[in-house]
Amino acid sequence: MSEKPVRNGRVFLFEGEYMEREYTNVMEEIVVTWVQVLMSGMEYQTFCSCRKCKNDIITLSLNNLPNYYVTTEGGKGYLEI
Ligand SMILES: [Zn+2]
Repeated sequence: MSEKPVRNGRVFLFEGEYMEREYTNVMEEIVVTWVQVLMSGMEYQTFCSCRKCKNDIITLSLNNLPNYYVTTEGGKGYLEI
């Protein structure tokens, strides 16, 4: 399995002030991975799998699931599902 991309970058604070983004919503990573896996499976071959539809499914799912933010790569190890 390939290395998962880490969503980072800079977060705007105020007037020219930024901080490094060192947190992520683990639920987002789970949903994105599962949508990719399920959409490539036999059961969902009749569904449109274009980028717009995948993004619609991901956003609809994330709006109905709890957030689970962690601060570091190491913090992800504490999540038990
Ligand atoms: Zn589509």
